[in-house]
Amino acid sequence: MPSQFVPRSRKVRILATLGPASNTPEMVRQLAEAGADAFRVNMSHGTHADHKKLIETIRSLEKELERPTTILADLQGPKLRVGHFKDGKAMLEKGATFILDRDRQLGDSDRVNLPHPEIFDAVKEGTRLLVDDGKLVLRVTRVAPERIETLVEVGGTISNNKGLNVPDVVLPLAALTEKDRADLSFALDNHVDWIALSFVQRPEDVAEARRLIAGRAALLAKIEKPAAVERLEGILELADAVMVARGDLGVELPPEDVPPLQKQIVEAARRLGRPVVVATQMLESMITSPSPTRAEVSDVATAVYDGADAIMLSAESASGQWPLESVSIMNRIATSVEADPSHSARVHFTETLPDATTNDAIARAASDIVRTVGASAIVCFTTSGSTARRVARERPTVPLLILTPSLKTARRLGLLWGAHAVRTRDVSSFEEMVGKAKRMTLRHGVAGGGERVVVTAGVPFGTPGSTNVLHIVRLIGDELERHKAD
Ligand code: PGA
Ligand code: MN
Repeated sequence: MPSQFVPRSRKVRILATLGPASNTPEMVRQLAEAGADAFRVNMSHGTHADHKKLIETIRSLEKELERPTTILADLQGPKLRVGHFKDGKAMLEKGATFILDRDRQLGDSDRVNLPHPEIFDAVKEGTRLLVDDGKLVLRVTRVAPERIETLVEVGGTISNNKGLNVPDVVLPLAALTEKDRADLSFALDNHVDWIALSFVQRPEDVAEARRLIAGRAALLAKIEKPAAVERLEGILELADAVMVARGDLGVELPPEDVPPLQKQIVEAARRLGRPVVVATQMLESMITSPSPTRAEVSDVATAVYDGADAIMLSAESASGQWPLESVSIMNRIATSVEADPSHSARVHFTETLPDATTNDAIARAASDIVRTVGASAIVCFTTSGSTARRVARERPTVPLLILTPSLKTARRLGLLWGAHAVRTRDVSSFEEMVGKAKRMTLRHGVAGGGERVVVTAGVPFGTPGSTNVLHIVRLIGDELERHKAD
C-alpha cells in the first residue's frame, strides 16, 4: 500500500550521501523512513551506470512513497585525488618513502598513480601533500618529471580516490574539469534536482556552471576554499544554495578557523535566503561505531541551533557500517534540539530583515500572524518556490506546507528549512484556494480541527511570481469530517 505522505515535523533537513553501503532499494527506503529528506549522489565515486541505477532507485521510491524526493549530484570539481590500489587500499607507515607518479598501474604501499599533471610542476621539496581530509601527511623530498617522492610524516591507510590537498602552493585549476562536464551532462540528462559545485573559488566559477546548467537543475556552491570564503557574498548572489564543506575547508585552513566560518557562512546564506547545508564529519565515528561521540552529537546540535537548512552525512551513510543508525541518530538529535524551548530564540539570533518586496512583506507577515493568533501552519501556493524560500527564511515556528503544480519545484525544495512540498493542481479561485488549503492541511496532518492556518497565494491565480494574498483559514469540525471523506 502506498504510504500517505505525512510531513515530518522536523525543520532541519537531512541530506544523506548514498554509496556502496546504502545503494540498494531496501536501504534507500529505510534511510528515507529513518529521516533522510534528500540524497546526495557523489560523482567522485562510482560509474555513470552505478549512478543511473541509484537515481532510478530513488525515483521509484519517490513514486511509491508519493513524496517529492530531492537528488543532489555532487561534482568532484578540481579536487585532487590519488589513483587506485591493487587491494583498494594500502598502509603507509610513518617514516617510509611513498611515491606519487604518472604510471597508470595499480598502487601499493610504495607508490600510486597521481592523475593530475599540474601537481608535478607545482610542488617543490618541502611541500606538504595532505591525504584524506588531512589524515595522512606526506612531505615532498624529491621531484622528478614523472614522480614525486615523499616522506610519510603521518601514516595510516590510504585508499582508492582519496582526496589530496596541497595548501602550500596555488594550483592553476579550472572550475569544472573534463570529468565534471561529462558528469554534469549525465546528471542533467538523468533529471537530478541539484548540482553541487566543488572547490568554487570565485563567483565566475558559479556563473560558468549556471550557464552550462541552463535552469535544468538548481546550483549549490560548496564553500571549501579560502578563496571562496573571501568572495562569499558574490558566490551567494549567484548560487541557489551553499554548503559549508568542512572537510576540505578544515584542510585548506586551520581547523580552528572552521567553527567561526560555519557561523559566518550560515548567517550570510540565511540573510540572503539561500539554503545552507552543514557538511562533513558530523557523525564521523559512526562509520565504524553504532553510536556517536558526545562531541559529534553536540556538533550536529550546533548546526541545528545555528538555523542551517540541512545537515549532511557523507561516508557515515555512503560507505560506513552503520548507515541507517547514522540517519536515525541525526534525526533524533535534530528532533531533540528543535524540541528545546530555546531553539527558536537561538535560531532567530540571526536577524533576517525583510527586503522591500511584496514577497518579503507577505513572508514576514505570515510569520507574525502565526505568533499572534497561534496558527498551526503556513500554507504557500507557489509555482517557482520563491515564496517558500522567503517564508522559510523567516524561520517560522510552525510547519510550512508548500503546494505547487511543479514537481521540479517540489523536488528542489527538499533542502529548504521546514518545507514540506506537495505537488498538486493549481487553484483558479479564492474559494478553491481556501478549500484546497484546508483539505491539504488535514490530509498532510499539519493542523487539526478548530486550528488556524495562514495561507499565502498570488492573485490572479496561475500567474507565477505574484504572491500578494495572505489569508487566515480556520479549520472547522464538520468540514473536517467532509474533507476526510473526499
Ligand atoms: P566532499 O565535500 O565530501 O565532496 O569532499 C565536502 C567537504 O569537503 O566537506
Ligand atoms: Mn570537499
